[in-house]
Amino acid sequence: MENLKSLLSVYGVQLKKQFGQNFLTDESLLSRIVEKAGVNEFTTVLEIGCGAGTLTSQIAKKAKKVIGYEIDTRLKPVLEKTVGDKKNVEIVFKDVMKEKLADLESKLGDDYVMVANLPYYITTPIVMRFLEQSTKIKGLVIMIQEEVAQRFCAKPSSTDYGAITVGINLRGSASVIEYVPRQMFTPPPNVDSAVIKIDVEKNKFLGADLEKVREVVKAGFSSRRKMLVNNLMNFFKMDRATAESRLTEAGVKLTSRAENLSASDFVALTNAIFNG
Ligand code: SAM
Repeated sequence: MENLKSLLSVYGVQLKKQFGQNFLTDESLLSRIVEKAGVNEFTTVLEIGCGAGTLTSQIAKKAKKVIGYEIDTRLKPVLEKTVGDKKNVEIVFKDVMKEKLADLESKLGDDYVMVANLPYYITTPIVMRFLEQSTKIKGLVIMIQEEVAQRFCAKPSSTDYGAITVGINLRGSASVIEYVPRQMFTPPPNVDSAVIKIDVEKNKFLGADLEKVREVVKAGFSSRRKMLVNNLMNFFKMDRATAESRLTEAGVKLTSRAENLSASDFVALTNAIFNG
């Protein structure tokens, strides 16, 4: 898009692949992302990776407040130009992965949403960090690689279903909102993308020890092609009879593989293993 290119060239910014700098300019796509996130005048939004501020300014039109993180300080004058006059926007020039969650959330309140076109090289660590550690985030609407989107949103017993999918389902549910071809980005990346929505259910599996459940998920998927019973025996140093009785207690078939289990099956199995 010409405007974006000329804006970046005015400030001498050449986009860097290593920061995942593939920018969006299509206003109707950007406003659909904000709309799908349900942003309104009461919503505080965390945006990770503001880039040239194209998504930031669409969010700012609807939200109460936007806190954006951007690692690349070369984009400071660009963002000053595009969103500097928006009173409800605050941009922090830091690597979001190095910011403590408590510091980051101190400005966000108890019920915030993440809206972002995420840098692809850290998509999974960002998403899992918020889902595993935050008790305040209530939803995410994010642009990610299509292949990763399919893994995040997969159904049990499908090839894309894995430990990450279960990790997401332990906190909520994910669905694809829209597929986005690579040509929509400046510059176009080597892969297509998708916008997904993750609704966080704050009381899902209330009372379950999710750290232990994640350990069982890790055990279950430690060797994907093996039956769950064998993975449990190896990981938890159990004999076969014990592993089988834990599976039976949890109502899981003895011939199952990890990919056949839903998040709630994993919670039941964790209870059987640790409290059985
Ligand atoms: N939001 C913009 C858009 O949609 O056009 C830019 C999206 S671009 C895919 C990702 C942005 O994240 C880039 O601006 C990049 O510099 C920034 N970024 C990369 N790693 C980051 C990190 N660790 N912390 C904060 N921002 C980061």
